[in-house]
Amino acid sequence: MAEPVFDHRKLSNRILLALLAGLVFGVALNLTIADREWAQSFLIDGLLTVVGEIFVRLLSMLVVPLVFVSLITGVSALSDPKSLGRIGGKAVFLYMLTTGVAISLALAGGLIVQPGLGASPVEQVTREIAAQPSFGQVLIDMVPRNPVAAMASGDMLPIIIFAVLVGLAIAMSGESGRRVGGFFTDFNTVIMRLVEFVMLLAPYGVFALIAVLGATTGISTFLGVLKYVVLVLVMLLIHAALTYSLLLKFTTGLSPRVFFSKIRAVQAFAFSTASSGATIPVTLKTVEQRLGVDNRVASFTVPLGATINMDGTAIMQGVATLFIAQYFGVDLSFAQMLMVVLMVIMASVGAAGVPGVGLVLLAGVLASVGLPAEGIALILGVDRILDMTRTAVNVTGDCAVSTIVAHSEGSLDLAVFHERDDAPAGAGAATRRGSEA
Ligand code: ASP
Repeated sequence: MAEPVFDHRKLSNRILLALLAGLVFGVALNLTIADREWAQSFLIDGLLTVVGEIFVRLLSMLVVPLVFVSLITGVSALSDPKSLGRIGGKAVFLYMLTTGVAISLALAGGLIVQPGLGASPVEQVTREIAAQPSFGQVLIDMVPRNPVAAMASGDMLPIIIFAVLVGLAIAMSGESGRRVGGFFTDFNTVIMRLVEFVMLLAPYGVFALIAVLGATTGISTFLGVLKYVVLVLVMLLIHAALTYSLLLKFTTGLSPRVFFSKIRAVQAFAFSTASSGATIPVTLKTVEQRLGVDNRVASFTVPLGATINMDGTAIMQGVATLFIAQYFGVDLSFAQMLMVVLMVIMASVGAAGVPGVGLVLLAGVLASVGLPAEGIALILGVDRILDMTRTAVNVTGDCAVSTIVAHSEGSLDLAVFHERDDAPAGAGAATRRGSEA
């Protein structure tokens, strides 16, 4: 493996520092010059937005080639193709299970705290709500009619299906397969290098994204729905800190503290971009090179998780459903709440991990229990910050499930997992490869 171009811990620290500095800078702008014409057009909509958006684009640019190449590399290296079914089954089960826990926690919190009582949203924004496809259609759409079109539009599930099939065919094609597989393995190394280039720019990108948020978010928006905002944040924290820690500890015996210390950069990327899809390159790299998950597992579980696993989103949707019901004075029955649980789990399957998709999906959840979709307008104004936080939880779930599945398959390199975070990235992975050879 080629030498990494940066020290992972230093970069993680710089990213977190940039996040804080961006927040302070943005809030300072907000309180001083944000309403001046020149500051708005040259600084906020100008420099900061341009830097932030270019950073997100650079990340997004890597997602499709990385998922495609990495998954082919991983699947074609499986010695036993049947293990793919096992890995997939475990991952899907754990993703659904954690989402079920997340939505249940959210509903319990919403029933206890009653965030909708006495709420007085100040800003009501309306927006077009797209119709949701049926679950059957989601299944049909998983199979690409045209893989190039799926790649062009970044549809993750069809890309995964196509890459898995190509990988399997490579594994079963003898000498030709070995030659093509070798090409994809090298290509994978090259794309990982590209990911490093983009990660190096992260402090600037993160600073700009957070500064724009700080400069443009009005505190007054939050006041009328403060109970809702605080409840969602607290439930996200509980789920991230408790559910994943307990699951990790009980299924693998591994230290949640080490796990969380290694994924700080992934969480920071997810937080500032509000997109688990755009974070895939960083998630994949971290899960493989810092947590020690073998590419054969990670290349499958990470993109799958970024698409079907949205625990943070489920929490927002659970709390929001109760908030809207309480605000409109509607009492939801137990059966209706079960319906909400099912709808939330199913809705997350077909939706890509992009900013704000959780709110779009919420329309379907509300409709399933007869609540008005206009209720979404009540919480739209405060959604960006919740979107960022729930995306950080979503990617935490992807990392946790990938680690657990790899551990159960004997595909977790414990030396890498326990490696101090200031060791050069990939050192353990290199050792593993050396010992396998
Ligand atoms: N932004 C979230 C994600 O990318 C999805 C959402 O909750 O809107 O995971």
